Amino acid sequence: EAKSLGPGNRLFYTEDLRAKLEAVQELRTALQVAHEEEQFIVFLQPQVDLETGALTGVEALLRWQHPERGLLAPGAFIAELENTPIAADVGNRVLAQACRDAMRLRQRHGRDIRIGVNLFTAQLRRGDLVASVERVLAETDLPAHCLELEITETIILDDEELIIPQLRALRALGVGIAFDDYGTGWASLSQLKRYPLTRLKIDRSFVSDVTEDEDDAAIVRAVLALGSSLGLDVIAEGIEIPAQADFLREHQCLTGQGYLYGRPMPVEVLLGKAMQNEGADHGSAVSAVSAE
Ligand code: C2E
Ligand code: MG
Ligand code: MG
Ligand code: MG
Repeated sequence: EAKSLGPGNRLFYTEDLRAKLEAVQELRTALQVAHEEEQFIVFLQPQVDLETGALTGVEALLRWQHPERGLLAPGAFIAELENTPIAADVGNRVLAQACRDAMRLRQRHGRDIRIGVNLFTAQLRRGDLVASVERVLAETDLPAHCLELEITETIILDDEELIIPQLRALRALGVGIAFDDYGTGWASLSQLKRYPLTRLKIDRSFVSDVTEDEDDAAIVRAVLALGSSLGLDVIAEGIEIPAQADFLREHQCLTGQGYLYGRPMPVEVLLGKAMQNEGADHGSAVSAVSAE
């Protein structure tokens, strides 16, 4: 048999491929178990007013509390998770947890704190997203304008006729829709116009070199101008150093997110910080922490 496979390295590749398939199958099984045993948890990353440093919102980011490997970020599993039948259910759980967390932050701060939740394509494909959102808002009492769903280009480039009506229904509820990682893909301006968006999130890749690379600076300025002329809010992601925040402020970007203001962290840590900051000048400012 080995002979018919030709030179020895072919056999090697076959073994290699088999090992890879086995690893994928193992990961899929582990993801199923993780969902059943509630090993998926939600971390929150602060979003701040770039002028005052005050907390304006948070983004919910999925983490896997793996029994052997420890805390895993989405890079280690999300591509595979998206291809499993549990994706929509995991997404719905993140949504529910995020809204509960947002209510706790809202109560602690005594004002609205917006929560951003990333969507899986599967949640829109299944067709029950609007009903799920309505139910979660009713159960948690979170005002609809405090929820912002984040969609990426993968979703924008999916079936428009399936997706746009659902996004319109969500907008009609008062829920915000943000275009995540904006500028990295192929979405056209006419697509941008057709989608009922409320916010653009400038991708981290442009922010990271904004002070050094004139092209990135031009792109950031262009996205800010586009947002302003289309009446969309703009938030910059991945702000790590003060010079990046300075550039953004100078160009009228009002909101930012990044390690400079805080890493993704458990809601308890964020609630603790809010308490520490009570009575301070900026009652809600969040100082950078490393909780990951
Ligand atoms: P994203 O939605 O663009 O989220 C922002 C990512 O950038 C997060 O990575 C965050 O930790 C990271 N980040 C934020 N500020 C900085 C910074 O200053 N420097 C650097 N180097 N990174 C920063 P994370 O948590 O690993 O998530 C990666 C991606 O996984 C997310 O990108 C999102 O596309 C996806 N994801 C996370 N949670 C969910 C979820 O609940 N549902 C869905 N569908 N996707 C999710
Ligand atoms: Mg996001
Ligand atoms: Mg993003
Ligand atoms: Mg990103």
